Amino acid sequence: MITLLDKAENISPIAKKLSSKLKKIGIETIEDLIFYYPFRYDDFSQIKQIKDLIPGDMVTISGRVDLIQNRRSPRQRKNITEAIISDKSDSIKVIWFNQPYLTKNIRQGENIYLSGKVNADYNTLQMISPEYEKVKNFTSNTACLAPVYHLTAGITNKQIRFLIRSVLPLAVNIIDWLPLKIKLDLRFMDLSQALRQVHFPENKVKLNSASIRLKFNELFLAQLQTFIIRDKIKNSLAEKVEFKENEIKSFVSSLPFKLTDDQKKSAWAVLKDTQKSYPMNRLIEGEVGSGKTVVAAIAILNTVLNKKQSAYMAPTEILAKQHFKSLQELYKNFEIQIGLFTRTEQKICSEKKKIKKNDFIKKIKNGEVDIVVGTHSLIQEKVDFKNLCLAIIDEQHRFGVEQRKSLKEKSGNKKTVPHFLSMTATPIPRTLHLALYGDLDLSIIKEMPKGRKKVITKIIEPIEREKTYNFIRNQINQGRQVFVVCPLINESDKLGVKSVKEEYEKLSKKIFLDFKIGVIHGKLRTKEKEKIMSDFLTNKIKILVATSIVEVGVDVANASIMIIEGAERFGLAQLHQFRGRVGRSDFQSYCFLFNENLSEKTQERLEALVKCNDGFELAKIDLEFRGYGEIYGKIQSGISEFKIATLFDYKIIEKAKVSAEYILNLDLTLNKFSELKKKMDELNKNVHLE
Ligand code: ADP
Ligand code: MG
Repeated sequence: MITLLDKAENISPIAKKLSSKLKKIGIETIEDLIFYYPFRYDDFSQIKQIKDLIPGDMVTISGRVDLIQNRRSPRQRKNITEAIISDKSDSIKVIWFNQPYLTKNIRQGENIYLSGKVNADYNTLQMISPEYEKVKNFTSNTACLAPVYHLTAGITNKQIRFLIRSVLPLAVNIIDWLPLKIKLDLRFMDLSQALRQVHFPENKVKLNSASIRLKFNELFLAQLQTFIIRDKIKNSLAEKVEFKENEIKSFVSSLPFKLTDDQKKSAWAVLKDTQKSYPMNRLIEGEVGSGKTVVAAIAILNTVLNKKQSAYMAPTEILAKQHFKSLQELYKNFEIQIGLFTRTEQKICSEKKKIKKNDFIKKIKNGEVDIVVGTHSLIQEKVDFKNLCLAIIDEQHRFGVEQRKSLKEKSGNKKTVPHFLSMTATPIPRTLHLALYGDLDLSIIKEMPKGRKKVITKIIEPIEREKTYNFIRNQINQGRQVFVVCPLINESDKLGVKSVKEEYEKLSKKIFLDFKIGVIHGKLRTKEKEKIMSDFLTNKIKILVATSIVEVGVDVANASIMIIEGAERFGLAQLHQFRGRVGRSDFQSYCFLFNENLSEKTQERLEALVKCNDGFELAKIDLEFRGYGEIYGKIQSGISEFKIATLFDYKIIEKAKVSAEYILNLDLTLNKFSELKKKMDELNKNVHLE
């Protein structure tokens, strides 16, 4: 018997052939396939008569194949399949390129649906490369709301639709853990039906109900987790950290800049929280470049002055190293032992040489290291502290349940939990925040450090490229540095998508022959990355060509130009993060989006970035343009990735909150809801950190 956990590749020969592609988009099992939601739909549900077609229409027609044949185009050396399709009202010419097998699939005399765009060819209309399907009861590609999935090279929507269609009957076996009472109260669609409708909606109304049901599922779990955490925190103890007012004040006045009011307020809130005997659970939300690190540094210093340890976790190694460096700089007048602990490297600031991992671990255990900066692997590895009192997590919304648990176990004191501080540049409005993360206290840093100038953002048309390069050359000659972000590392099979390697070749051989250019991406060895980052920091490298690896946190104040190639491939919120890499000093900074054949819609989308400087707003705009399904607008819950719910589903968030409260009031242990309990346990077990 086939089960949901069986490998997707075993369902059919086609699946087998596509298995590596499926893995690439995260699909291993049949269940993964069923939960691989489309991110938008092509509305092919209205069938139009051929006589009513207008150029530019996205339509479905239904007609009879009068003629179909292949021919070769002598000039373009292409195979062209031509067909004439007619309905009661008229007939139209249809063309496909390089798919000669079509004459075997579509036969003269058959009735078919065609969905796609209507083009004008001189005086007549035609359809080029439309989706086709035989007329039958169920269609997945034409004459319906056709689901559109995120793809990877070598796999098509049609194939994914086919695979999902073939396993969807198994959706009835998925355990519906949502308590019956909630389902009845909210008049929810049955889970298996919702899954069917989200992939192949019968109509827009059913699609809407299905999507509400599935979003609710995700949000409800997140809310449950929030409440459970809040309850745990309320009932756990933390060590009080005394506020060393004099030392902290003198540290603040020794800084090379004056703190902004928001920074002061946040630092003050943190210091107050940590004086209490239950754990702090605070989030600092501040736009990129607003100066969150120094707030963390104040809290850490206060902890060190209390002779207790801190851990500072960053999402990437580059960032961990940067924090390691900036803390050393900030604490240069103090005797503080700062350690760096990543998967590949361990170091202590006072020691020139690298230290053996085991010796380092011993030092942490003995309390000889005051602060350990690292990636999240810090939590996973066998590092135990003597008295870990403060845990900071950068560029994340919150600590997950598992993270807390393991930090508690490592803290060296079995009775207490460390104080938790998260920091993020993903802005969420306060009200939404309350609904979503009710367990967290919030500090917002809105005010930017003095002297910052707004980054000038421009879409550069092809004819302005040359001029822009000259401008950039000028800026570099004045001492500035440049980031160039590309979507890919290597040249791809998708023509025209910019890769780091090609871009490096082009810039170094054709455009900026006189400047040193570096390349950085995730596939490089740690050592190489480190060398390049440090050369960029010290201004030896003038231009750094990078993948999205530089998205968060990287702080190089002297860099004032951000070039983004292939901007259409990134989400707006992500582009906003890239832009945040510049404008970190009082130099005027620039963000250039190079436009090459952008569609009108993409151009319009990118215009939003030019006009708007608010990450949350941008995420929202993007959602309207691109539908859900990518990294932007996503909620970080610490339990699982949201696949369909977004930050903008306010109403459902509110409903999920009320329902979660209701269920926990009935039974805090969830024992009465065994299936739900099982689901929560499973999720908490599967928290992946990096
Ligand atoms: P983010 O909030 O994005 O993490 P950082 O903490 O990396 O921002 O700070 C960005 C830069 O601004 C750093 O170089 C930091 O030294 C500097 N900075 C922080 N606070 C101030 C301030 N009050 N005035 C001037 N510069 C500041
Ligand atoms: Mg930061």
